[in-house]
Amino acid sequence: MIIGVFKEQDNENRVAILPEHVVQLKKMGVSVLIEEGAGSQSFATDTQYVEAGAELTKANTILSRATVILSVSVPRKEVLSGISDKHILIGTLNPVFNKEYIEILERSKASVFSLDFVPRTTRAQSMDVLSSMATIAGYKAVIEAASLLPRFFPMFMSAAGTIKPAKVLILGAGVAGLQAIAIARKLGAVVEVFDVRSAVKEEVKSLGGKFIEVEGAREDASAGGYAVEQTEEFIQKQRQLIHDHASNADVVICTAQVFGRKAPLLLTKATVEAMRPGSIVIDLAASTGGNCELTQNNRSIWHGQVLIIGKSNYPSEMPFDASKMYGNNLLNFLKLMISKEGQFQVPYDDDIIKSTCLIKEGQIVNERYLQLIK
Ligand code: NAD
Repeated sequence: MIIGVFKEQDNENRVAILPEHVVQLKKMGVSVLIEEGAGSQSFATDTQYVEAGAELTKANTILSRATVILSVSVPRKEVLSGISDKHILIGTLNPVFNKEYIEILERSKASVFSLDFVPRTTRAQSMDVLSSMATIAGYKAVIEAASLLPRFFPMFMSAAGTIKPAKVLILGAGVAGLQAIAIARKLGAVVEVFDVRSAVKEEVKSLGGKFIEVEGAREDASAGGYAVEQTEEFIQKQRQLIHDHASNADVVICTAQVFGRKAPLLLTKATVEAMRPGSIVIDLAASTGGNCELTQNNRSIWHGQVLIIGKSNYPSEMPFDASKMYGNNLLNFLKLMISKEGQFQVPYDDDIIKSTCLIKEGQIVNERYLQLIK
């Protein structure tokens, strides 16, 4: 079995696997072809890949020799157009928001696994790339806010007087939100949190955050750890309460999402205008429309004296550890498909394989995807 890894798109610093993953794949009896320079933005050199046992080559050679292609996100144009029915692509393709690329892959008749659809179950935890990347985003969001805020995060008692701790408001306490709470607390901020799932209340409290409850949220235990859409009436009520708390906050970190849907709008223009001068909004949901009405995807803007940051790829700003975590998740996923003898065989009846298989031999087979794009 031959696995191929390409350099990602120009604006992506991560790479699907690092040299340490090549070593593990070789032990599993798998050959690895790496495109020249694929790991350079993640600080993994060509020499390190070769020393780990990979073969360094050009994109065209990989396309003609490899069967399995590993990617971080949608492959770059020239790779995408070379994918054919002999290939199996495994990556995080964000299919609901990348329908045009999914159509190209469908026409190529390749088989495609999208790791966005790894279920949030105990067995699949070690393959959950979205959780790994959200952990990084939650961490980076707080670090960035702390470095840009014109105030301290912790309380300070000094000869020059007492400085109050910063107030951080976190919208959404899923993977990114919980990480953001933990880091903001470690830096000494006072943290308040909104979420619609009551299950996270105790976790928020145990991390030192104050959970603010809005009554009447819709919950669905069968949604696999994800939230469900709320009624407009509930969102209105929630927006008002968020307005009251945001106007006293120094930083708002937005992480609220309903999987596969446009992000819920929680922070209105009027709320931003009520915030203190010098405050910062970091909207992690920027790529799906943002939780803040004013967010612009992949841009930082000032609205009056409030800075709104809409970066949608923090993991790419921490490429070494992001690639390490991503590669570990990928490897755990690949283990489902590789026999002890290094033979490739896809167990299509396995629940994780079923959940992640988007296209099988040119046919879209993923029920969840089909539901979400309806
Ligand atoms: P998650 O599903 O684990 O968490 C989202 C949380 O939002 C859930 O706890 C959910 O209950 C909550 N939520 C939903 N509706 C809400 C509402 N109306 N009010 C309050 N809370 C609500 O998601 P995650 O993996 O933590 O990702 C969070 C966001 O971060 C997503 O939008 C994701 O795309 C984004 N993300 C951004 C980056 C980046 O670099 N910007 C990287 C990774 C993930």
